[in-house]
Amino acid sequence: MGNSGNPIFDLFVIGGGINGVGIANDAAGRGLKVGLCDKGDLGGATSSASSKLIHGGLRYLEHFDFRLVKEALAEREVMLKKAPHIATPMRFCLPHRPQLRPAWLIRTGLFIYDHLSRRTTLPSCKMVDFSQVSPLNPAFKKGFEYSDVWIDDARLVVLNAMQLKQLGGDVRTYTEVLDASRREGHWHIHWRDLKSGAEETVRSRVLVNAAGPWVQQVLESTVGIAGQKTVCLVKGSHIVVPAMHNERRAFILQCDDGRIVFVLPYLNEFSLVGTTDVEFSGDPSEASCSSEEVNYLCGIVNRHFNRQISPNDVIWSYSGVRSLCQDDAKAPQAITRDYAIEMNDQDGKAPLVSIFGGKLTTYRKLGEAVVDELASYFPGTGPCWTKTSVLPGGEGVLSPATYTSELLKEYPWLTKEQALRYSSSYGSLAHCFLTKASSFSDLGEHFGAGLTSKEVDYLIESEWACSVEDILWRRSKLGLGNVEVQSLGRYLESRLPVL
Ligand SMILES: Cc1cc2nc3c(=O)[nH]c(=O)nc-3n(C[C@H](O)[C@H](O)[C@H](O)COP(=O)(O)OP(=O)(O)OC[C@H]3O[C@@H](n4cnc5c(N)ncnc54)[C@H](O)[C@@H]3O)c2cc1C
Repeated sequence: MGNSGNPIFDLFVIGGGINGVGIANDAAGRGLKVGLCDKGDLGGATSSASSKLIHGGLRYLEHFDFRLVKEALAEREVMLKKAPHIATPMRFCLPHRPQLRPAWLIRTGLFIYDHLSRRTTLPSCKMVDFSQVSPLNPAFKKGFEYSDVWIDDARLVVLNAMQLKQLGGDVRTYTEVLDASRREGHWHIHWRDLKSGAEETVRSRVLVNAAGPWVQQVLESTVGIAGQKTVCLVKGSHIVVPAMHNERRAFILQCDDGRIVFVLPYLNEFSLVGTTDVEFSGDPSEASCSSEEVNYLCGIVNRHFNRQISPNDVIWSYSGVRSLCQDDAKAPQAITRDYAIEMNDQDGKAPLVSIFGGKLTTYRKLGEAVVDELASYFPGTGPCWTKTSVLPGGEGVLSPATYTSELLKEYPWLTKEQALRYSSSYGSLAHCFLTKASSFSDLGEHFGAGLTSKEVDYLIESEWACSVEDILWRRSKLGLGNVEVQSLGRYLESRLPVL
């Protein structure tokens, strides 16, 4: 272990979830020398376990969280332009249950939702009458429709990390920060590479604790500083079931306990149903969907849809844990989802920035706020640049559908299904592994579900993929397809040291 030859970072981030990569990326683009590490895969924790929405959060209006909703609403149009390959507009249908919320209240909420921030492409809200062909229980006659945005959460993390690397950032996965301390005006950060076991200490002027649900643990155990905030961990789970309907729109269902549950179209064949809100204690990496949560989600779906589901229909489930700042709210769903930034320095040097809460939707604004706050430590750094910069692969993409046609023109031997998967995962990055191929067999070994060794090589070389899970559940969602997992595992072993 040693640090003599290592460069000194301006800013080092613990945590490669969306908040960590967002802050690191913003800082690198403003000219700072940035390092980031994650003890697992990029986006391996909460940031790949979300509902995958860039949304204002209609229900936060009920908690008068206007600042958060306004900032979040504006990010919908920003993200459609920044990440046009992995983000798509989505209409949401809210079946009306007058006994829970009167129509005037919902109309008022949607009016505010439509007008709190500028919309340029997303259509406004409207009332809808359900026809006889509606997938909903005939008891639902009327409802409301409004717009938000769907995004591939895990890929949003990776694309930010790729942009960070392009800007000179040092990104390390499966690398855990064991301890960090202040000495002579710098942070000394001691990490272990979990693949090789090698340990190293690096120095940085600023340390950012973006450890998500581990934020308190990193503060208290890794850094040894008592935080000012009280963190509450809340688990949310989703289930994946065969498609509840064949409409393109999503449904937002009101539950009797005041919560809401989304039923989102997912990967053409499925519906993604979530989420729950359960107070959590223990190791966040072990969070999983309980049978009570499955029953709760099936129950609310069955109350609304004609087609009935049971726990036997659940094909896959996942859970994520939020670190929320405890406020006066009594119920987990009422605690604010807004982010909080805690700063602490020593005689004006070696600041520590800790991030609490936040949403996928507001990661870019959080990055901007953090780097703006650090401006006094780095005089001369430029303004935030991330609003208009397109993420890797988004250049020249209008939408996944239009880019699918372009890929099919250039590679006519691709099936439409493959071209659509490539365009909505990689956008123009798909050329990195397609460009020299003139037939499907040129893409190398086929592991099933269209996954080939050329794509896997690209993911290893350019997107930090190290394991079967990284590839099947985060870089793609091919874990739900028919992939020969053992052949893929053998191939990875031949290319990489075993984790
Ligand atoms: C069920 C659910 C649904 C959600 N849905 C939405 C949604 O639809 N839209 C939305 O905007 N937001 C949503 N959110 C919120 C959003 O997912 C989170 O706010 C966001 O992902 C938090 O990102 P993060 O980077 O702070 O944390 P994480 O993604 O958890 O990242 C923290 C990282 O820190 C790493 N780490 C921890 N300790 C160390 C260490 N010592 N050394 C190195 N690395 C370390 C971890 O491995 C982890 O990868 C949802 C959250 C949940 C739980």
